[in-house]
Amino acid sequence: MIACARCGRAREALTGPPVPGATGEEIARRVCAPCWEEWAAMEIKVINELRLNFMDPAAQATLTGHMRAFLFPGDDSTVEPEERLAFDEIGKS
Ligand SMILES: [Zn+2]
Repeated sequence: MIACARCGRAREALTGPPVPGATGEEIARRVCAPCWEEWAAMEIKVINELRLNFMDPAAQATLTGHMRAFLFPGDDSTVEPEERLAFDEIGKS
């Protein structure tokens, strides 16, 4: 169980980092499994609505920003904003 940074409740933790790097480690440490599932669904909507190009680093930064805002509403993530998600890693774990 963890105290989730998003929903504020003590809920089930993820079994491991859902994405690579420091971002994934922070998510595993601070975000509950149900909130990550919510983001996984939201992520698809964001990609489709913004028509993000997976190969474009700017699009990766945009998606990362949406993820941070969704998972860490207090904007207190310790991960450097410059760290971007690699789209091809999303969904692997
Ligand atoms: Zn949560």
